[in-house]
Amino acid sequence: MIELPEALTLAKELKEALTGKTVARVLPPTKPHRFCWFNGEAADYEGRLRGSKVVSARGFGIYVEILFDSGLKLAVNDGVNLRLLSPEAAPGDYQLLIQFSDGAALVFTVAMYGGIVLHDGGLDDEYYCKSLAGVSPFSPEFEQHFYEALGRCKPKISAKAFLATQQRFPGIGNGTLQDILFAAGVNPRRGMDTLTGAERERLLSSVVSVLGEMTEKGGRDTEKDLYGKNGGYLTKMSKNTLAQGCPACGGSIVKEAYLGGSVYYCPRCQAMPAKGGK
Ligand SMILES: [Zn+2]
Repeated sequence: MIELPEALTLAKELKEALTGKTVARVLPPTKPHRFCWFNGEAADYEGRLRGSKVVSARGFGIYVEILFDSGLKLAVNDGVNLRLLSPEAAPGDYQLLIQFSDGAALVFTVAMYGGIVLHDGGLDDEYYCKSLAGVSPFSPEFEQHFYEALGRCKPKISAKAFLATQQRFPGIGNGTLQDILFAAGVNPRRGMDTLTGAERERLLSSVVSVLGEMTEKGGRDTEKDLYGKNGGYLTKMSKNTLAQGCPACGGSIVKEAYLGGSVYYCPRCQAMPAKGGK
């Protein structure tokens, strides 16, 4: 799933690879997917895009968006995989394929669900709008946003619920969350009201530094980039490391289902408070 580091990485790669290229063909799904949605009919995308030139691409929250010289924008969300194929490569099944005049093909596939939405800038979708309006963790306003968001939550909200639900921080999801909490030494189930001021500060700085490192290294190693290569950031708490143990203390990593997805943590380095809290 795309989270902020991958959205920024894909956008950078798309911008470098596609800017100046002209759309020659747009092919609709080879096999329609029940949970892939379009804006109107996918078959109409060709008529709306053919002859347009890519002028840029951007990433925000859980979205990657390609901008065309016609003013149209093609936004994809976290469930869509993007792959740029050379003219010789044969694509398998896909939900959309854009072929450029030089033969390169951008292929869109979907595993669980995904949106591939062509729009003119006025897209009225809750997730899209929240992602677009989200305060970047790399901006100077983020600290204020973090504490204001915390102030609006119920005091006992857990660390995972605080960071990864309700789109308070678009682009932090169940993936990036794990290493952020590990870096902060905070258990996913821990109530935010049990964190000291210093621990809250450490959580805030972990959000910024971990997302920054993931972005700098081209996304997480559990995800793939535009060319099918794994990201360069080696996750510390993920399915990849479950068997290896905690990189800090060597103890076993715990995997548990919690709030719609597995959490991975070290019960020693991310201990629950001895009494009180949840
Ligand atoms: Zn540990």
